[in-house]
Amino acid sequence: MSNLIDFPKKLMLIFELLHEYYGDQNWWPSESQFETIVGAILTQNTAWKNAEYAILNLKEANLMAPSAIRSVDISVLAETIRPSGYFNSKAIKLKAICAFLEFYNDDPSQWESMNLRELRSQLLGVYGIGPETADDIVLYVANMPSFVIDSYTQRIISRVIPNLEVSKYDEFKALFENHLPPDAKLFNEYHALLDTHAKELCHKKIPSCNKCPLIKHCGSFLNHSTGKFDA
Ligand code: SF4
Repeated sequence: MSNLIDFPKKLMLIFELLHEYYGDQNWWPSESQFETIVGAILTQNTAWKNAEYAILNLKEANLMAPSAIRSVDISVLAETIRPSGYFNSKAIKLKAICAFLEFYNDDPSQWESMNLRELRSQLLGVYGIGPETADDIVLYVANMPSFVIDSYTQRIISRVIPNLEVSKYDEFKALFENHLPPDAKLFNEYHALLDTHAKELCHKKIPSCNKCPLIKHCGSFLNHSTGKFDA
């Protein structure tokens, strides 16, 4: 990783410019900690709107509770969450996280007093919980500073700071966590802003650079002539 870049300053600048442009994101959009956990699983490999349809179905079927998910027939559960895609495997995952929650009396607020590493490690041991979902839960449920990395984050950071020489999940995570204060509120808002920016302007194929608040600081844009980007 380049020693010439002042990463703490650069990462805070990106945050401040995005926050100034998009404002507070107020994540995670849910009515309870349990709903956030369910949403983190249902949104795996699909757009959030598909997860939302599945969440609505669960509520209408009175299944938005760990005990209800544990007791319902798995084929019924799978059918209920069909809009989220991969519904058979996600039904198994929901059953697994609800079995795990039983050790905590179905009360995820108990996780807030745990050690961050211990909680993350336990979550990673649950079927269907990978690093991104574990970090979603640690940050947005337990309110602890574990930075969430997704493809949107990787795309934006790799464009704004080219030649980073980081490519793996843990490397991107370390980039943020090693250069920002361990502040759950900051990590919460930062991840949400990156997701919003990727959806609104920094698109995969043709980013809308001409409207981007990061344009003066984006290495990829500054290195390119016209053609690839639309500004
Ligand atoms: S200038 Fe373009 S490529 Fe760079 S962050 Fe903005 S939208 Fe993305």
